[in-house]
Amino acid sequence: MKTCNHINCFKDFNHICIPDTILPRVVVIGGGFAGLNLIKRMKDQPVQVVLFDKNNYHQFIPLLYQVATSGVEPDNIVFPFRKMFRKYKNLVYRMAEVTKVDAENNTISTSIGEISYDYLVLATGSSTNFFGNENIERFGIGLKSITDALDIRSYLLQNLEEAVLRCAGRDKVALSSVMIVGGGPAGVEMAGALAEFKKYILPLDYPELRKTPVKIILCEGTGRLLQGMPQKLSDKTFTYLTKLGVDVRLNTLVKKYNDNLVEFDRGDPIRVSALIWTAGVKGELLLGFDTKSISPQQRIRVDEFNKVEGMDRVFAIGDIALMKTAEYPDGHPMVAQVAIQQGRNLASNLLRVIKKKPLRKFNYTDKGSMATIGKRKAVAYFKHISVWGFTAWFLWSFVHLMSIVGVRNKMLVGLNWLWSYFTYDKGDRVIIRKYLREEIK
Ligand SMILES: Cc1cc2nc3c(=O)[nH]c(=O)nc-3n(C[C@H](O)[C@H](O)[C@H](O)COP(=O)(O)OP(=O)(O)OC[C@H]3O[C@@H](n4cnc5c(N)ncnc54)[C@H](O)[C@@H]3O)c2cc1C
Repeated sequence: MKTCNHINCFKDFNHICIPDTILPRVVVIGGGFAGLNLIKRMKDQPVQVVLFDKNNYHQFIPLLYQVATSGVEPDNIVFPFRKMFRKYKNLVYRMAEVTKVDAENNTISTSIGEISYDYLVLATGSSTNFFGNENIERFGIGLKSITDALDIRSYLLQNLEEAVLRCAGRDKVALSSVMIVGGGPAGVEMAGALAEFKKYILPLDYPELRKTPVKIILCEGTGRLLQGMPQKLSDKTFTYLTKLGVDVRLNTLVKKYNDNLVEFDRGDPIRVSALIWTAGVKGELLLGFDTKSISPQQRIRVDEFNKVEGMDRVFAIGDIALMKTAEYPDGHPMVAQVAIQQGRNLASNLLRVIKKKPLRKFNYTDKGSMATIGKRKAVAYFKHISVWGFTAWFLWSFVHLMSIVGVRNKMLVGLNWLWSYFTYDKGDRVIIRKYLREEIK
C-alpha cells in the first residue's frame, strides 16, 4: 500500500483520497453492529477495508432509550471510529453518506465523491418506519439514533418546564403526558424508564407538578406486548408496566397525531405533549438496486452467503439484508445478534473468496431475547427457557454492559446504573440543545 499522491484531491470533487493498494478493496457502508464485526475480523488480513459511515461514531442502539430518559449520557453509548480503528493498518475510514451503488462499474457514489470496489458490503441498517403516516412522522419522534434520543430527552424536559408555567387545566396535564407507540422491546423499555422517571424524579425535580396527573401511555396494535416472546412473558411485562403506572392499551392503533391530539382506530382521542414512535423499522436503502430484490420492508434479498440477488461482488448484512431460510421464511429478526453473526460470517467468506476457497452458509444461532422494565425487572427468553423478575434484570444488565464498546464506556454506564440502583436517581437532566419541533400549521 502506498500513500495517495493525487495532486487534485481537493480540486476534483469526484476523487476520494484513499491510499492506493494492490490488495483487494472491500468497501463497507455502515459501521453498526454488522459492519463493525465484519471489520474486526478483517484486521491485518490481506485486504484494504474502506469504511464509509455518515456519522463518525458507532452507536449502541439498545441503550438509546436510557439516553432519552436521562439514564446515561450520550457519549457513554457511542464510540468514535477513528479511536476504535487506531491499530487497523489495513483500514481507511471516511465520514460520508453513500447514496448509490453502480454494480455494473463496481463503484459507489457518496457525498464526497465516487470510489471503486472489488467487494462491496452494505451494512446500512434500518430507519424508523412510519408506514406512510405523514403527520406522525412530522410531529412524532422516532428512536433510532443518538440524535433522536437527545431530541426526545430535550423535548420531554422542555415540555415539563412549560407545564410548570401553567396554573392548571388541560394543557398542564397534556404537557406532562407522553404517548409511546409500539409494544416491542424498544417501546416497553422506554415506557418502563419513563414510568420510573415519573415515580422517582418528577416529585423531586418538579414539585410544581405533584398534583398533576402525569400520564404515560403505551399503545400496541396487537393483543399483546413483546410479540417475539412467549405469552407468559408478555403477560408479566403487562403486569410490571401497569404496576409502574403505565396506561397500556392493547389492540389499539394510532391513526393520527396533530396539534398534540392522538386519534385512535377506536375510543376517544388523547392530548399528549410528545408521541414517541417505536412501532416499526424499514431497511435503510440506497439507489441502484433492482426493485425485484427489495422487500416491502425495504430489505434487500440475499442468498445464504449474504450475496445480493442478481449482483456480483455485492453483499448485504444486518437489518438491511433479507435472507429467507426454511427456519426463517420471512427473514431473520432485525436484531443485533443477527447483524453481528452475519458480519463475522461474511468476513470469513470474503477472505475465503480471495483465497479461492468454498463459501460457508450463514447459520443463525439464536442467543435469546430480553427486555427490561424499569431498573429491577426484566423478561428474558433463552432456548425455550423463560426468566423474569430480578434474575432476568441482572442478566439483561450483564449482557448489555459487556456488549458496549470501550472499557471506559462500560465503566461509566455500570457506575450510572449502580448509582441509580441505590439512589433511585438518574443521570443529569440537562437540555444541551433545544429540540425545535416543526410548527403545527
Ligand atoms: C430503539 C431500539 C432498541 C433496540 N434494542 C435491541 C436490543 O436490545 N437487542 C437487539 O438485539 N437488538 C435491538 N435493536 C435492533 C438492533 O439495534 C439492530 O438490529 C442493529 O442495530 C442492526 O445492526 P446493523 O449493523 O444492521 O445496523 P445499524 O446498527 O443501524 O448500523 C447502520 C450504520 O450504517 C450507517 N449508515 C446508514 N446509512 C448510511 C449511508 N447511506 N451512508 C453511510 N452510512 C450509513 C449508520 O450511520 C450506522 O452507523 C434495537 C433497535 C432499536 C431501534
